[in-house]
Amino acid sequence: MRKIQMVDLQKQYQNIKEEVDSAIQEVINNCTFINGPSVKQFQANLEKYLHVKHVIPCGNGTDGLQVSLMALDLQPGDEVITTTFTFIATAEVIALLKLTPVLVDVDPDTFNISISAVEKAVTNKTKAIIPVHLFGQCVDMESLMKIAEKHNLHIVEDACQAIGADYHFSNGEVKKAGTMGIIGCTSFFPSKNLGCYGDGGAVFTNDDILAKKLRGIVNHGMFVRYYHDIVGVNSRLDSIQAAILDVKLKRLDDYIKRRNAAASFYNQVFANHENIVIPQRHKKSTHVFHQYTLVLKNVDRDKVVAYMKEQEIPVMIYYPVPLHLQKAYEYLSYKKGDLPVSEAFSESVISLPMHTELDDEQLNYITSHLLKAISLSKK
Ligand SMILES: *Cc1c(COP(=O)(O)O)cnc(C)c1O
Repeated sequence: MRKIQMVDLQKQYQNIKEEVDSAIQEVINNCTFINGPSVKQFQANLEKYLHVKHVIPCGNGTDGLQVSLMALDLQPGDEVITTTFTFIATAEVIALLKLTPVLVDVDPDTFNISISAVEKAVTNKTKAIIPVHLFGQCVDMESLMKIAEKHNLHIVEDACQAIGADYHFSNGEVKKAGTMGIIGCTSFFPSKNLGCYGDGGAVFTNDDILAKKLRGIVNHGMFVRYYHDIVGVNSRLDSIQAAILDVKLKRLDDYIKRRNAAASFYNQVFANHENIVIPQRHKKSTHVFHQYTLVLKNVDRDKVVAYMKEQEIPVMIYYPVPLHLQKAYEYLSYKKGDLPVSEAFSESVISLPMHTELDDEQLNYITSHLLKAISLSKK
């Protein structure tokens, strides 16, 4: 059996090697390393795939979130509501811009930001909300958008884990993750669902004025060469990464299917187990399974992790500490017990290997050992 990885990028690469290698070689042959034709081509193809008017490539997902907030002209002290159960980048950019992160709890079913918690957290200083489509499933955007409209708030979607996920509105409209808010962001970090071979990211919007502004911000605040109208940053997707991404974008829907197949395998084994809660599905969203995350009940998780490690099966804890309890954010004065659903998740979740190359032999090996680990670790 092939060694099991959390994400098997090597095997994925082997299957597309020829196409990827020639795409990279073409950029090198032409030496169009920055803003080359591959960047424009990928941008156009991604716009088509997402049914969004503007894709603005940038250096990574974190930059995408940062430039999005910069484009909205928020003022120091303005409050931005986001989830405490996410990767640090989501809150980090808020803090970096001297805005105030307001961290709220998640829904006990979906791991996603709790809509009622958002509503309670709105004050007269609130200017924006950053929902995170965690693990590959969309936040209940229809309900969130109603709150945003009522209080006149911007929504910046963190779709770093959910590219390709579909959200179904009750009027029948279907939209892709990252295209529902005023701006959406994604990351092309290698292990993401659409990953490049280095760092990369992109910002999406249907707003022409914001798109123009975002293109300026990622390019030193420059709209006419060497005339800088606003303070910007340098954040680019390089041409080699764009060429690789264009090869992988064609396969994204197939990759999503493969992730769903692995998730179904896991679900079948773990459904109805008294110590395991399988990923709950939001009825309005498809799931692209960036992570396959279980909740363990009445089980010593450390013991499970140690057992799996002995079997050379990688597992991960996403995320072991919610953001409101992170040292860097002590200044926000949250304390243990403030956001109990997320705190309980951080002590009970476990993510299993999830990627496009898992085969049945590996899935059998993982599931049978996890069942064994749990039977040995009951509390
Ligand atoms: C990966 C990730 C980011 C950051 O993306 P980078 O490209 O690593 O900067 C932000 N938010 C979430 C939810 C992520 O998973």
